[in-house]
Amino acid sequence: MVISEICDVQSVITTQSYVWGIDLSGSLQGAGGVGGLLSVIKSTSSTTSMYVPLADANGNSTEYLQLQVSNFTFQVSTVAYHEYPPFGQVTFQSGEMAGSFGYRFSTKYWDSEFNGYYYGRRYYCANLSRWISRDPMGELGGLNLYLYELNNALLLRPVSEDPLVDKKKNERPSEVTGTPVPVGPGLNSIVCKGGKLEIQIGNKTASDKCTPDHEQVHINDWKKRYGDNLCSGVPDGQLPCGGKDYKDFMRQTECDAYKAGKACREKLLKDCVTEEEKKKLEDKIKIDDQRIELNCKK
Ligand SMILES: [Zn+2]
Repeated sequence: MVISEICDVQSVITTQSYVWGIDLSGSLQGAGGVGGLLSVIKSTSSTTSMYVPLADANGNSTEYLQLQVSNFTFQVSTVAYHEYPPFGQVTFQSGEMAGSFGYRFSTKYWDSEFNGYYYGRRYYCANLSRWISRDPMGELGGLNLYLYELNNALLLRPVSEDPLVDKKKNERPSEVTGTPVPVGPGLNSIVCKGGKLEIQIGNKTASDKCTPDHEQVHINDWKKRYGDNLCSGVPDGQLPCGGKDYKDFMRQTECDAYKAGKACREKLLKDCVTEEEKKKLEDKIKIDDQRIELNCKK
């Protein structure tokens, strides 16, 4: 958290100090400081002014009030007002000091040299509605490393109100929360469609008769991990991913899936196959073996 900014322009020193309180999580930094800015104090050698940000329910700093004491009365005036759409671009601003406060959308710091928000680990470009660098946690946060709020900033809500969590049936293990991420349409994969989990054969040249056996293992494992209702409320073409120990889960499910594919191909080899089919199956089994070696724990 930034506590102070000191600016020296031709020996005129201005200081901005920030006072932080509890953020939207109810602790100091549980929500990354969102909604937790209490006041901004701007001072030069001769003046000191105090400003108080007002935030909306999502922690966006929409207004800054100036607090002044004069003639023994306390005066409050609005000096800056900002409006943001869901992805954080400033669509409207007014007030004599509009644009001169660092903390704005989502109580994140607006870097005026970069023209974007600084989130501590990377920069967010509101005009493009995406991060400009990759997710520091890699694919654990989803397959698209530049995606901001799942490209759906309107639908985000606290985890406790996540529509994907079926509280009544409690079918989704509480410690394993999968964030839906888009699956490329050209992939052989599993994907949510119409609220149901199904197999997608998007790459016909890379698939054969045994591809469904491989993907069926993933369907079973996904349901075991995220619950039978894992696709309810998930847009078509997306798939819940991530959560606790996701890397281990992925290795395990790929290990079993490649074994299932290999078993299917070995069975086909015993049938009457042409030389050409035989060669293709044997090549595929070689790949299966490599992936089994890579993913299965020894
Ligand atoms: Zn697979």
